[in-house]
Amino acid sequence: MFPAIFLDKDGTLIPDIPYNVDPDKIELSTGAGLALRSLHQSGYKLVIISNQSGVARGYFPESALVGVERRIRDLLEMFDVPLSGFYYCPHHPTGEMASYAIACQCRKPEPGLLLQAAQEHHLDCTKSWMIGDILNDVEAGRKAGCQTILLDNGNETEWILTPERLPHYRTRTLAEAAEVIHTHTSIH
Ligand SMILES: [Mg+2]
Ligand SMILES: [Zn+2]
Repeated sequence: MFPAIFLDKDGTLIPDIPYNVDPDKIELSTGAGLALRSLHQSGYKLVIISNQSGVARGYFPESALVGVERRIRDLLEMFDVPLSGFYYCPHHPTGEMASYAIACQCRKPEPGLLLQAAQEHHLDCTKSWMIGDILNDVEAGRKAGCQTILLDNGNETEWILTPERLPHYRTRTLAEAAEVIHTHTSIH
């Protein structure tokens, strides 16, 4: 069983451009490459967990996410960082596209994608972390049994703070998040 870092994509791993699927507009957030390399070198598997309701809303086809994943893998490869998984939820309960308009168990704040990734990659959620820029990321991480870090970068605007949504830690950047994880980890 491996420890993992579950990473939100938009606003966390990459700057948030709402519903963008153009690979040319995708860049890593400042410091993300080095931060993830240090986590990879410490033995963490890296897994993206992303809500992609643009599919259900009819803004882009699910197939557009192939290029998004490719671009992110290429960017991470420049830092010698392998990605163990790219998981996304294409659904939204009120989406325009009937086949995707469901109340699913994989859209954050539900933990479905984390649990699926854990099963498919033999990940131990109790030794894993979820990092995201909004409280729905935190809630999904807590429901899966992970420790959680909120990137407090201004993207959360509602602050509905129930105990389930309370981040274990708050940092401003992924570099700081990696430091927190290294400080609180002994997986040797
Ligand atoms: Mg986000
Ligand atoms: Zn879903």
